[in-house]
Amino acid sequence: MALLQISEPGQSPDPHQRRIAVGIDLGTTHSLVASVRNGIAECLPDTVGRVILPSVVRYTGEGSGRQIGFDALTGQAADPANTISSVKRLMGRVRSDVHDVDNLPYTVLDTPGMASIDTCLGPKTPVEVSAELLATLRFRAEDSFDDDLFGAVITVPAYFDDAQRQATKDAAQLAGINVLRLINEPTAAAIAYGLDQASEGVFAVYDLGGGTFDISILRLAEGVFEVLATGGDSALGGDDYDRALAHLALQKAFADKAPVPESLSGEDKANLYAAARRCKEALSADGTHEATISCPLDVGDCQATITRSAFAVATDHLTQRTLQAVRRALRDAGLEKSDIEGVVMVGGSTRMPVVRDAVANLFGQDPLTNLNPDEVVALGAAIQANQLAGNNTGDALLLLDVIPLSLGIETMGGLVERIVPRNSTIPTARAQDFTTFKDGQTALALHVVQGERDLVTDCRSLARFELRGIPPMAAGVARIRVSFTVDADGMLQVDAVETNSGVQAHIDVKPSYGLSDDQIADMLRDSYATAEADIKARAVVEARVDAERMILATQSALNADGDLLSDDDRATIDTHMAAVEAAKTSDDAAHIEAVTKALATVTEPFAAARMNRGITQALAGKNLNAV
Ligand code: ADP
Ligand code: MG
Repeated sequence: MALLQISEPGQSPDPHQRRIAVGIDLGTTHSLVASVRNGIAECLPDTVGRVILPSVVRYTGEGSGRQIGFDALTGQAADPANTISSVKRLMGRVRSDVHDVDNLPYTVLDTPGMASIDTCLGPKTPVEVSAELLATLRFRAEDSFDDDLFGAVITVPAYFDDAQRQATKDAAQLAGINVLRLINEPTAAAIAYGLDQASEGVFAVYDLGGGTFDISILRLAEGVFEVLATGGDSALGGDDYDRALAHLALQKAFADKAPVPESLSGEDKANLYAAARRCKEALSADGTHEATISCPLDVGDCQATITRSAFAVATDHLTQRTLQAVRRALRDAGLEKSDIEGVVMVGGSTRMPVVRDAVANLFGQDPLTNLNPDEVVALGAAIQANQLAGNNTGDALLLLDVIPLSLGIETMGGLVERIVPRNSTIPTARAQDFTTFKDGQTALALHVVQGERDLVTDCRSLARFELRGIPPMAAGVARIRVSFTVDADGMLQVDAVETNSGVQAHIDVKPSYGLSDDQIADMLRDSYATAEADIKARAVVEARVDAERMILATQSALNADGDLLSDDDRATIDTHMAAVEAAKTSDDAAHIEAVTKALATVTEPFAAARMNRGITQALAGKNLNAV
């Protein structure tokens, strides 16, 4: 009888067998999965050879109950209400945060925590819909390797906040995927081009997809990518070019009787946009100068021939909008066009010659276009996944991303103490010590906020928790260490510990909904615009807090040792205290500081006398050797 070799599940019988790790680009319009095989990253095709999976899920209630990808896309025109596209825009968002939500072809419900979609199979969350797409890609990978998936690197836009990243991770979990890491899309694109192999440099990643435009400025230093600035427009992409072209085609076909595309029936509109998209894509082919569009509509056939130059004119306002965002991002990063060493083109819409030319013009250099712009993000993610899975121990790329907005904690007077500054590379851990404000204070409320402004009311609240059970101590004696830990995926944990007693509290920050990229941009713009006002406001609040602390400390000293004072001294201190009390409401930081300082000065002899008494009491009854 031969001995069978047995291995535990998940444990490879051959220690040299590689682990199956993939990169997944979970896109707004398209998703892809890629893997490194024989040292080369490549996108994995479906059974009929297509690498792209349209990010579309249609709930049918028949058979398996749903169609995914191309099948779902086919049914979209006939069944728009149950065909979910662009679900990425809803990830980790509440309904009111979603731009143009009423114009989506399906019904978005205002469910608490995260918006959801009303379908014939009941409400579906964006996490569930994304999980369908991710599971499809997972099965594709497992089928092509005939093996279980070890894990995946999934890409997210650089501006995705905690809630959006968490939603993406949740979707992966639901799809049974072990997430090795979430990385930023522009970082993945830069890796695909091997820019991480350079020693250093500043790069721009221009990503024009189906419905979104993102520009990211990355700096590579010592093998680490840092996001210097992000910008873009979450409602600008290839779809807008389709609409502009549809408009142009209607005008050519029907002249002054032309309807506007928006006025067509749902099905006509969908068919016309699809025809416009085919025409647009045909116009991108090398050497093509014109293409025809042909689409039967209720109002008659829309037949037109579109030249490249007519298309360029009709869409120039869209291209210009992307360039404006590029200039803004450069300004945010404090850079000139000439500082940019390379420009990476990402997204299917960067195949359009009008776009390539405009970008080349702006930067004064040809952008990198030799990789397939649909695939480049997935390819970079695959390279990263291969490394994280330990398949490629040769070169260790230390890859870091940054957090988009500062993280901090509310302190006395509604001020924000920034703990992790914006653009800190992640993973990161930072700590800061705080103390209690009042004598005998046994609990401390901690309020975690995100934003660049100095006042809590101008920042976004992420979480609140309490540290309880602090032993009663005099104000200022407790040492409360608050630590922020941001992991490689951008998820935040906050810990608070009172170091004398060891009492502690902890919170995982999972905000109930996310910030839109527009909100992030607004918050950043606000912080630049209001920096000076903030500094003033902060100074006033700080002065008030100091004044209050001084009054409390003096009062508690008077209560304990007031008998040490002569009547005159006591009267002087009372007068000064009243002055500080009166000044507290003033908006003049210098004045508040002056009276607070005066109170500190007049109480100095009193403090010295208290100290003497304290020492005498401590020594009483003890012999010197014991001290
Ligand atoms: P996303 O990242 O938003 O999922 P993609 O990067 O896949 O989007 O880009 C999809 C967009 O690219 C669509 O608007 C599509 O029409 C456009 N696109 C794809 N190929 C071409 C082409 N040859 N010419 C012009 N646009 C194209
Ligand atoms: Mg994309």
